[in-house]
Amino acid sequence: MTTLTLPEFIRRLPKADIHYHLLGGVRLNTMLDLARKYQVDLPEAEAKSYYRAYQTPGGPRKGGIAALTFLYQLMQETADYERVLFEVAEDAHHSGVKYIETFWNPSDVALPYAEINDALVRTIDHCQQVFDITIRLIPSINREKSPEDAVAMVEAMIAHPHPYVLGIGIDYKEHQAPVENFWKAYRLAARHGYKLTAHCSEFGLHWRNVETGIELIGVDRIDHGYSIINNPELTAKYAALGIPFTVVPSNTYFLQQWPKHDEWRVKHPIRAMAEAGLNIIPCTDDWHMHDTHTSKCYQVMVEDFGFDVYSLKTMMLNSLYASWLPQNQIEQWAEEWSRCFDELFAQLDYQPKLSTKELILYRREHNGKK
Ligand SMILES: [Zn+2]
Repeated sequence: MTTLTLPEFIRRLPKADIHYHLLGGVRLNTMLDLARKYQVDLPEAEAKSYYRAYQTPGGPRKGGIAALTFLYQLMQETADYERVLFEVAEDAHHSGVKYIETFWNPSDVALPYAEINDALVRTIDHCQQVFDITIRLIPSINREKSPEDAVAMVEAMIAHPHPYVLGIGIDYKEHQAPVENFWKAYRLAARHGYKLTAHCSEFGLHWRNVETGIELIGVDRIDHGYSIINNPELTAKYAALGIPFTVVPSNTYFLQQWPKHDEWRVKHPIRAMAEAGLNIIPCTDDWHMHDTHTSKCYQVMVEDFGFDVYSLKTMMLNSLYASWLPQNQIEQWAEEWSRCFDELFAQLDYQPKLSTKELILYRREHNGKK
C-alpha cells in the first residue's frame, strides 16, 4: 500500500472553505494585469506589499482590508470578476477544495449588483464543469460604509434573487462599526430567508461583539470571534449550541502577538476555543494576500496548533455542517467525505499519528432553523 505524507494526505481530503473573501484570492499577476488594463500606475514593489509572501521585515506591508479596497477600484468590468473567480476555483481545486462560500462587497462596486451577480453565477457554473468545485455567494456589508448602504445591498439581493446567493456577511474594520449598527440590513435579509454571518470580535475586540451578533442580530455563525473565550459563561453556552466559528489559523491579530509557532498551541484563542468545546472551522480568509491555502490551514492546525490528525476529520465534517448547503447535500457529502478520510488516514505515514477524537462533531439540522 502506498503511504502518504501529511501534506499529501491533507491535499487529497475533500474540503470546504466557508470564510473566503473573493478578492483576497486575487493572484499577484492578476492584480498587475488589472492595473495595466486600466492604466493605473502600480509598481511591482507596491503590488507586492499587499502579499504576505513578498513582504519583508521593515518593508512596506499592506493588510487584507487595504488590498480589498484597492482591488475593487481595479475591477471595473464583469470580465474582471469572471477572471478572478475562475482563478480562485483553479487554485482551490489544486488544494483539494470541493466547496467554497465566498464573500464579496457589492457596495464597493460601481457596476449594478445584478450585473456582477450574473457574471459570478455564470462563472460558478463554468467552474463546476471544469474543476468539479461548487461555489456559492455571500454578499457582504462593508461596515466602513453606512448602514443605509447595507440596506441597499440587501434590497438589491431581494430584487435580483438567485439560488446561489445564500446569505449575507459583514467585514472590514470593526472598531468603529459594530454589527448592531447594521440591524436593519440583517433583519431585512433574515425576513427574506437569507442566512446570516458576521465578522465579530476580530483584532482582539471585546467579546460583546460576538454576543451582539448572536443574541441581537441572530447570526447563524460567527467569523473569527476569538475574544469570546474571555467570557466563560457565553463560551459554554455557544459551545452547547454548536454555533460555528470560522477561524483563520494563518491570519489573526494574535499571531502577531505570539510570533513563535510553538506558543500558538498554548496561548492562541483557537486552541482555547477548541478546548472549551466551541465549534471551530478552519478557513483561509484571504488566500493569496495571506500566503495560505486550505490545505495549509489544515496543516497548521496539526503542526502549529497541536491538534491530532484525526481531529481534522471532525473539522472537515463540521465545515460541511456549518455550510449553508441544502441538508440532503450536506448529508451526502458528509458520508462520502467521511469514507474518503478513513481510506486516506489508513495510508498516512505521520508521527504522531493519534486517533483520539479531540473535537466535538456538531451535526446540526440546518433547514428551518431560523
Ligand atoms: Zn474575513
